[in-house]
Amino acid sequence: MSEPVQIACAACLTANRVPAERLAQDPKCGKCGAALLDGAPVELAAEQFETFVRRTQLPVLADFWAPWCGPCRAMAPHFEQAAQNLRDRVRLVKVNTEEAPQLAARYGIRAIPTLVLFKDGVEVKRVSGAMDAGTLAQWAA
Ligand SMILES: [Zn+2]
Repeated sequence: MSEPVQIACAACLTANRVPAERLAQDPKCGKCGAALLDGAPVELAAEQFETFVRRTQLPVLADFWAPWCGPCRAMAPHFEQAAQNLRDRVRLVKVNTEEAPQLAARYGIRAIPTLVLFKDGVEVKRVSGAMDAGTLAQWAA
């Protein structure tokens, strides 16, 4: 038996423990029933972000973006494609830095888009600049 993997629910932030062999079987939140790994980027508000990251053992790839940023908007479909391709391996989340300026400041975001990869709740690397879906997947691997 493999170890369960803890995954935060994007809807209610409950930490769910999912057996590793069930990650690819569309697991649901035990509390609210929402899909835990729906293959879509999760839009997180400032007050949700750190709880979500801390409660998720899968790698979390965060896109710090803003609506006025052309490269951010150009990357959005690639980010969605990467979320689909990586659905049971990496959680892709988006943080709108216009709505969460203090969170962006706390993470020292100076350019957007900036992509930050977390493992076990800890930042492991970051990069600034837009990437396509294939490059995102390689970078997060
Ligand atoms: Zn839930």
